[in-house]
Amino acid sequence: MIIIMLGAPASGKGSVAEILSKEFNIPAISSGDIFRKNISEGTELGKKANEYITKGCLVPDDITVNMIAGRLTEKDVESGLILDGFPRTVKQAEELDKMLAKDNKKIDIVVNLETPEEEILERITTRRICKNSDCKAVFNTLLHPSKVEGICDKCGSELYQRDDDKLESAKNRLAVYHKETAPVADYYKNTGALYSTVLSKTVNRMKDEVAKDVIEYLRNK
Ligand code: AMP
Repeated sequence: MIIIMLGAPASGKGSVAEILSKEFNIPAISSGDIFRKNISEGTELGKKANEYITKGCLVPDDITVNMIAGRLTEKDVESGLILDGFPRTVKQAEELDKMLAKDNKKIDIVVNLETPEEEILERITTRRICKNSDCKAVFNTLLHPSKVEGICDKCGSELYQRDDDKLESAKNRLAVYHKETAPVADYYKNTGALYSTVLSKTVNRMKDEVAKDVIEYLRNK
């Protein structure tokens, strides 16, 4: 099973991916998490990526594609995977198709989360993440606050706000999303793999409802 999560920053890709990962027992791979791990470990990749990430820009395709290509050779993805945050450009989508074709694999579904623009900025700037790299639980001061402010419910570590979730960088990420990533949905529409679905608090349709529908769709496919 190969699942791609597509959508604006903070649209809920990671949260839905987590549910699907448990359901299908396949790893969820977040390109953003891999970059952040490299940044915190001070690797060469991390240093290069950090220049772009802090400004809210995309890391160049060649760096990102190489990183994902390396991850796709690991053993845990043999029976399937969920990609969260990759591809983010049409070029990356084309390169992913080439990588999968080499192994005679193909994408089962591209889950495209549609969240109203006004909710996105609010979701980005109110997101808080657990500092513990083994936990990385995600909270939201409005939608899903932790029981004790600033402290992770799951492991008791401190919560933090990503630098690129702050307003200026967040606005830039949203602009980049419209320019570079939204066309990826059209790319997948042409392949027949696109599954677009609304995730929005205004219609009371959040991660659990979305994940349930995706699971049902895949079971009936
Ligand atoms: P995320 O955690 O998915 O929001 O990603 C955080 C940041 O990492 C993004 O704003 C980009 O700067 C960078 N990034 C993550 N995935 C990609 C990608 N597929 N292509 C380019 N840059 C990426």
